[in-house]
Amino acid sequence: MKTLEFIERAITEQNIVDGRCFVCGGEQSSGAGEHVMPKWLLTRLSLWSSMITLLNGTTLPYSQLKVPCCERCNNGFLSRIERDAQAIFAAGELKDANDVLVLGRWLAKILVGLLTKETKLYFDRRDRSKGFIVDAKFLDNFHLCHMILQTARKPTTFSCLHSDYPFSLYWYAVEDTEDDDFDFITDVVGNAVAIRIGRLGVVFVADGGLQMEAGAKGPHGLSGSKVSLRALRELILQIFYKSQLRDATHFYVNSETPEAINIEQVRVSPFTGMIPGTAMTQIFRPWDSEEMAAILSGMLDEAGNFSPPSRT
Ligand SMILES: [Zn+2]
Repeated sequence: MKTLEFIERAITEQNIVDGRCFVCGGEQSSGAGEHVMPKWLLTRLSLWSSMITLLNGTTLPYSQLKVPCCERCNNGFLSRIERDAQAIFAAGELKDANDVLVLGRWLAKILVGLLTKETKLYFDRRDRSKGFIVDAKFLDNFHLCHMILQTARKPTTFSCLHSDYPFSLYWYAVEDTEDDDFDFITDVVGNAVAIRIGRLGVVFVADGGLQMEAGAKGPHGLSGSKVSLRALRELILQIFYKSQLRDATHFYVNSETPEAINIEQVRVSPFTGMIPGTAMTQIFRPWDSEEMAAILSGMLDEAGNFSPPSRT
């Protein structure tokens, strides 16, 4: 089967409800499944017994945050992604465009794992009053995360409109922190995730690269720079807020041979349409400084910590 067919099979409701492999839709192997937060990370950060809260309020230990997976995917492309990502966090910096791709896939993997878990909980319970709705926009996001992740199966060429890859990724070297300290925060609405392990902080948005259009180095042009921990957290929330304002997706023409995948973005496809009174496509809803300030004050406490820490 082709990679692009694995994706289609993996994201069906039936596959998710039946607990088949989260990345290929095949039979789950008898093993324990794939850890959404990888084992090397749980060990490095002493997170085995720490708790994570999912969107519907379910709380569980990180160690039990797992999704069904088959042996072939688990031992194949997924373990390669882990190995490569671990090496970058050990180095504490991104050296080139390939490192950007590695971490983009790795963070897409975490996002796909979480989205799969959340989606299954939703399908199982159908509790729409909780406000988590599997709608067309959500599925579009889910599909894009899968595409970014699953290009790790084969050599891939990307032809994208805004940057090298169909996502936005920024990284920062944090000056005032310890090696075993970390942040982990996700934004399922904005299709974004940020993680800091020791001194390396990375923010990823599965948005087709639209934020890169606004500036390849992100807010204040700081990607790749040294920043304080407090500055990093404010940058994360600015990027997350921007990701929630995204009002467009992309039209892709993808193709695949037995040897390679080709991902090609053809055009931006707006959700809403034109900016009122103009002939311009609306890519982002307008930035509202008051709304942004309200989000910041709700998510960062006086000391500049996420409140609660490491939320999802
Ligand atoms: Zn599989």
